[in-house]
Amino acid sequence: MKRRSFLQQLGGGALATGAMLGIGCKKEAPAEQNAGSSSKDFKPVKWKMVTTWPKNFPGLGTGANFMAELITRMSGGRIEVKVYGAKELVPAFEVFDAVSRGTAELGHGASYYWKGKSEAAQFFSAVPFGLTAGEMNAWLYHGGGMALWQETYEPFGLWPLASGNTGVQMAGWFNKEINSLEDLKGLKMRIPGLGGEVLARAGGTPVSLPGGELFTSLQSGAIDATEWVGPYNDLAFGLYKAAKYYYYPGWHEPGTTLECMVNKKAYEALPEELQVIVTNAARVANQDMYAEYIARNNQALQTLVKEHHVDVRKLPDEVIAHLRELSEKVVAEVAEKDALSQRVYASFQAFRDQVVQWQNISERAYLNARAG
Ligand code: CA
Repeated sequence: MKRRSFLQQLGGGALATGAMLGIGCKKEAPAEQNAGSSSKDFKPVKWKMVTTWPKNFPGLGTGANFMAELITRMSGGRIEVKVYGAKELVPAFEVFDAVSRGTAELGHGASYYWKGKSEAAQFFSAVPFGLTAGEMNAWLYHGGGMALWQETYEPFGLWPLASGNTGVQMAGWFNKEINSLEDLKGLKMRIPGLGGEVLARAGGTPVSLPGGELFTSLQSGAIDATEWVGPYNDLAFGLYKAAKYYYYPGWHEPGTTLECMVNKKAYEALPEELQVIVTNAARVANQDMYAEYIARNNQALQTLVKEHHVDVRKLPDEVIAHLRELSEKVVAEVAEKDALSQRVYASFQAFRDQVVQWQNISERAYLNARAG
């Protein structure tokens, strides 16, 4: 069943990738050449993929599996990728170092987990009041973002790839009402990256924890509140059992990019056609994960509301306005910390400013029109 569903997904992905790479022309190759390349006259490259997610976790973990399987199958088995969940080979937050030193060739996570390595890294996952999923991809692929990300990871011997997107997240799980910015004061909340910096400025205490530790931390009271992703993922962790209110929108993560980092030496050792396969497997996985979240979130939200009686609340407009004001300041200040962060921030801001003009008369105007 699992295999069938993978093959169905691969069918769509492989077609898209074929068109993208223009490999239609290779179909003209003589039959014996095809037969030759499909026989096992090669020694497979064996790669490990370590992840920050629990093994097979919906969307994130299965997205990592999907990408690994794409690489293996698209390469006709010339690269065999074995996936490890968090803690199986290394703990979640050691993924970056593990791939950097070559313990594993691939690492699946989110770049804001590595702000201790590089402040600039945070901009490639999510920026509060920043870019949506479609806009992130536009900046990364066609707005100079990818080149800056490569430059950011270069000193660590890593080659970054965008490999998933959650879309707009939820603001998180709280055990008290949030009626003003005051209510965030003294709040110990799991919230990573730049969103965490904003919470700190609002008087809260941001904590960075891997997903697998959220439920027990919230239930034991080690943290007062947490955000994770959205209904599809938050339902899977059972967060509704440990908090009363579920707030939206996810101002801090408007379209989070997940990453697959590649050990650069291992990547460069591949022949060019295998590099293209790795790169485009990520591209397929990137769009597929976003589609999955859009398809599944509302179903999970209905389960949370109807079966588990979760109290879903919108953050008051005044709170959102304050957070937006604070975010603009905090993000600009973080960018002041080093020259690379400044350049990444400048590129990100310029892209946001220009894309907003188009989005206002396209996506936004249409969503308003549809709402009636
Ligand atoms: Ca999140």
